[in-house]
Amino acid sequence: LFVSFEGGDGAGKSTQARLLADRLRGAGREVVLTREPGGTELGLLLRDAVLHGDHVDARTEALLYATDRAHHVASLVRPALERGAVVLTDRYLDSSVAYQGTGRDLGADEVEQLSLWATRGLLPALTVLLDLDPDVGRARLTSAPDRLESEGDDFHRRTRLAFLDRASADPDRWLVLDATRPADDLAAAIGERVDALLAA
Ligand code: C5P
Repeated sequence: LFVSFEGGDGAGKSTQARLLADRLRGAGREVVLTREPGGTELGLLLRDAVLHGDHVDARTEALLYATDRAHHVASLVRPALERGAVVLTDRYLDSSVAYQGTGRDLGADEVEQLSLWATRGLLPALTVLLDLDPDVGRARLTSAPDRLESEGDDFHRRTRLAFLDRASADPDRWLVLDATRPADDLAAAIGERVDALLAA
């Protein structure tokens, strides 16, 4: 089972991914908990390049994320899925569609096609969207903002709407949750949906 967590910065994606991993491991499942960008050694180099590089234009940015994703899927995600593990990733292709496709105006369809090419068409069975007002998300961040977190309000508002649009177009794959709800409440809702998928 492949599950991705999406949403703006500070929405609680990594917390919820960790809580779900704990729950599934407690039930005896093998869980691979990973993230993009930077789920592999090569990915960490790409993460540094994309978040801290100078003069990274929009297409370069999109290709760096796609490169990270191609390597992540080929070297970590697919092998884990093939041996029957549950893979939980903090961000995946929908982040690229929202941030580079809509936020950077490269075009949602083109950026999606790039990621589908990079991953040989691997989509999650479930994508959890932790939806949050970007102002609230920013206030929750504890570390100094990176190059992308420092983007203006308009950028973050448009990416939020892009996530919501994608989710409403494909409700079978997406679970949209209000990220201001208490963490244990969110974890219970996610756990319920995941249990249903594992039982199917
Ligand atoms: O979620 P995480 O903090 O690892 O993301 C790093 C930064 O990269 C964030 O500022 C996020 O908004 C941005 N990002 C992006 N496009 C992606 C994935 C992440 O702009 N495809």
